Amino acid sequence: MSVENQKELIKRLQALEELYWRNPNRVGAEECLNTIGYDLKDMEDASMRLQRFAPYLQEVFPETKERGGLIESPLRLLNQQELVKEGIFNLKQGHFYLKMDSHLPISGSIKARGGIYEVLCQAEKVAVEHGFQTDENYRVLANEDYREIFSGYRISVGSTGNLGLSIGIMGAALGFQVEVHMSQDAKEWKKQELRRRGVSVIEYAGDYSLAVSQAREIAIQDPKNHFVDDENSRTLFLGYSVAALRLKEQLEEMAVMVDDDHPLHVYLPCGVGGGPGGIAFGLKLLYGNSVHCYFAEPVQAPCMLLGMATGLHEEISVQDIGLTGITIADGLAVGRSSGFISRAMDGLLDGCYTVKDETLLRLLYQLHQTDNIDLEPSALAGLYGPTMNSDGNGTHIAWATGGGMVPEEIMKDYIQEGKYLVK
Ligand SMILES: *Cc1c(COP(=O)(O)O)cnc(C)c1O
Repeated sequence: MSVENQKELIKRLQALEELYWRNPNRVGAEECLNTIGYDLKDMEDASMRLQRFAPYLQEVFPETKERGGLIESPLRLLNQQELVKEGIFNLKQGHFYLKMDSHLPISGSIKARGGIYEVLCQAEKVAVEHGFQTDENYRVLANEDYREIFSGYRISVGSTGNLGLSIGIMGAALGFQVEVHMSQDAKEWKKQELRRRGVSVIEYAGDYSLAVSQAREIAIQDPKNHFVDDENSRTLFLGYSVAALRLKEQLEEMAVMVDDDHPLHVYLPCGVGGGPGGIAFGLKLLYGNSVHCYFAEPVQAPCMLLGMATGLHEEISVQDIGLTGITIADGLAVGRSSGFISRAMDGLLDGCYTVKDETLLRLLYQLHQTDNIDLEPSALAGLYGPTMNSDGNGTHIAWATGGGMVPEEIMKDYIQEGKYLVK
């Protein structure tokens, strides 16, 4: 990107404009997939690990029984006619689906993929050190003797909320000591939910980056503390990527074709980048250039767009260009992207776009009306994809990243706020 174009782009970001940035560095998937350091086999290994844990998950979280102990969400065809009336979609663009990670079992957000996967990896590792064999039935890990073993270890994480919830719920269920370091954006109800489960919650007056760095610092001093590093974790990344294998099955079941003549467009709300990055990576592995992936960020926190467009990756923050990083979309309230993800996406991602908080709330209300689906504000960023990518046609999927655990009263308020914003 030329310097003039970069300057122009930064001006528009500073003006808090909703904009679409096409990634000029994108190359063919086959050219860059082998530079990331992971391949199909790694993704399949992660998938098999989750499969091994299925009997345990069924036992401890009965809500996973329906899918045989897999943590998976529905893919739903949206009420397209109504969305057209609302100006959210155009039938000429093809079909519009919602991937409802908002309704994932256990913790009701996309973090139930990567976050829970990393906790399970840690549990497996500790169990094996204590004589567990990976060909045993994982249900035994729910037994008191294993809980006793796990209670000698700690898992910690820095989070704006949802990652903390996922790690906390899963870690506490296994018996680990869990410590969640929360940024100022974290919602009160998320902290309460964790404390109720015996998780220790440490609050910071600063943002997400601060909570993560503090948590990392404390963890280093304790060899029995596993730190889930949202900015750098390869384990989280692979856990998220498994979503691609599952989505492919769902699309096949629903007879949705994906090839060069029937492209797939996937809109992923992005915070630090791990969740959307892992999923985009998995999808590119499976569909190559037939899938197009886009990240969606709040106008006050476009950290991935900024890092990729300037080529500075994690070396620039949204605060550096005068933005606040403050947004109602707490899951996306991140000022500095993961350098690992930003670089991995450099040749792979199709583009990024930004969304105003008002738009998120308006979409929240509209989706409530058209499809009776309630999402948290962050999760609506994907629904704006077809508006920002109006040239694309084929199958569009908005990734609904969270909402399942939002208390009813708080959801009602969001819906009311959104209602006032509909013209
Ligand atoms: C965390 C989160 C995201 C983004 O995931 P990152 O890995 O931070 O990019 C999107 N939506 C919701 C609701 C989240 O909690």
